[in-house]
Amino acid sequence: MAEIKLSEMRDLTRIERIGAHSHIRGLGLDSALEPRSSSEGMVGQTAARKAAGVIVKMVQEGKIAGRAVLLAGQPGTGKTAIAMGMAKSIGQKPLSQCSQAANCSPLEMSKTEALMQAFRKAIGVRIKEETEVIEGEVVEVQIDRPRWRGSVQDGEIDSEDDGNGDCALGKDKVQSGDVIAIDKASGKITKLGRSFSRSRDYDAMGPQTKFVQCPDGELQKRKEVVHCVTLHEIDVINSRTQGFLALFTGDTGEIRTEVREQIDTKVAEWREEGKAEIVPGVLFIDEVHMLDIECFSFLNRALENDMAPILVVATNRGITTIRGTNYKSPHGIPIDFLDRLLIISTQPYTPDDIRKILDIRCQEEDVEMSEDAKVLLTKIGEDTSLRYAINLITSATLACLKRKGRIVEMEDISRVYGLFYDVKRSTQYLMEYQSQYMFSEVTAGEGDED
Ligand code: ATP
Repeated sequence: MAEIKLSEMRDLTRIERIGAHSHIRGLGLDSALEPRSSSEGMVGQTAARKAAGVIVKMVQEGKIAGRAVLLAGQPGTGKTAIAMGMAKSIGQKPLSQCSQAANCSPLEMSKTEALMQAFRKAIGVRIKEETEVIEGEVVEVQIDRPRWRGSVQDGEIDSEDDGNGDCALGKDKVQSGDVIAIDKASGKITKLGRSFSRSRDYDAMGPQTKFVQCPDGELQKRKEVVHCVTLHEIDVINSRTQGFLALFTGDTGEIRTEVREQIDTKVAEWREEGKAEIVPGVLFIDEVHMLDIECFSFLNRALENDMAPILVVATNRGITTIRGTNYKSPHGIPIDFLDRLLIISTQPYTPDDIRKILDIRCQEEDVEMSEDAKVLLTKIGEDTSLRYAINLITSATLACLKRKGRIVEMEDISRVYGLFYDVKRSTQYLMEYQSQYMFSEVTAGEGDED
C-alpha cells in the first residue's frame, strides 16, 4: 500500500474557513491592561479595548456577576471584534452567544425561553466528586526523617533528601493508619506518615489541603474529581427522555419551569454542602436593538439572579424605537435597562488603523498585495467602510488569480471595486432608478422599520 506522507495528510486536513473575526485572538493588552497598538489581531480602539480588559479582569477574578456591558458605536467600528477578544481572553469560562439578537427567538420556542437557555448556557457549575483512596495506591510521601529513617535505609521507600534535613520526599503505598493530605484543586495525595501536627502540616501545605487519618483496617476517603458543566446541560439531561443526546442535536425544545426549579434547588444544596460552585460566564448578544420590550424586561429580571452571567450586548443604532412599543430611546433600549449597563463606546477608525487592519486581514487570508494596492484599498476603506474594504481582499485575489498573477495589484482592486457596489453607490443607484423598481410608490420614511 502506498505510504501516505504526514505532509500530505496535513494538506488534506487543512480545510479551514476564514471567518470575519478569525484574526482576533484577544484584546491585545499588556499585563497592566494597557492596549498595545497592534497585538493579538487587534488594532486601535484603545479606550474601548482597555475598558473591555477591565471587565475581563473582573470576570476572571470572579468579582462581578449579573452585570451587563453595552458596546455601542457606528457600524464596522469593531464592537463584535472586541466582544470576540473578550471571549478569547476569558478563555475557559462558559460562553454563550446569540450572535444576533434575532437568533434569540427561534420558531420552536418562545423568545424568553430561548433567552433563558442562552443565559443558562453561560452559567457554569463546577461539581466536586469525592472518590476513595485505595489501599496500596502509590502516592507521594512527606515524612519526618527521624521516625522513618529506618524504613528509608531498608529500601522500602524510594526517597530522596529534600536538602534541609527535616524530611524525606518520595513515593510509597497508602496503608491503613496513614495520615494523608489531599490537595483540593489537583486531587494530589501526599502521605505524611503515621501522625501529623495539624498546625505544622497545615501551614506547610496551605489551606487548600484536606487531611485525612485513614482508620486502621478500613482505608477510605477522599480524593476530589472536578466536573464542569453548564446549568443548561444539567437542565437538558434532566428534562428529556433522550437525555444528553439532545445536547448534540440541539433539539432541546422548551424546558419546563419545574425542572429548572428542581435543578436550582439541587445546585443550591450542593453549594451549601461545598460540593459545587457557580462559575458565571459571559453571554454575548449582538444587535441588541432587535430584542423587544418583553425580552428587555426578562433580561432585567434575569440579571437580578445571583447566578447570572456577565451580559455583553452590542448595537450600532442611535435613537430608535423600542421594539414592541411606540417609544423611542437611545439604541432602542428601554431607559431602565440602559441604566444597568456599563457603556463602552467605539470610535470611527483613522486611516492608519484601517491600513493596519487590512494588513492583518491580508496575512490572515494568505494574500500578497502590493504597496500601491494597499494604499488604494485603505482609501476605499476610508471613503466607504472598513467592512467593504475587507470584503474586497478576497474578490481582488480571485481577480489576480484569473489574470495568473501572484501579487494583488491596483488593477485587481479597481476591477472588483467596479464589480461590487458599496452602500453609498448602491443607494445612489437606487435613488436614480427607484421608479423602475417594484413598490416604488412607497414614500420615503415608510418601510424602513427593522
Ligand atoms: P456592526 O455594528 O455593523 O455589527 P461592528 O462594530 O460589530 O459592526 P465588526 O464586525 O467588529 O464591527 O468589524 C468589522 C470587521 O473589522 C471585522 O472583520 C472585524 O474583525 C474587523 N475589525 C474591527 N475592528 C478591529 C480592530 N480594532 N482590530 C482588528 N480588526 C478589527
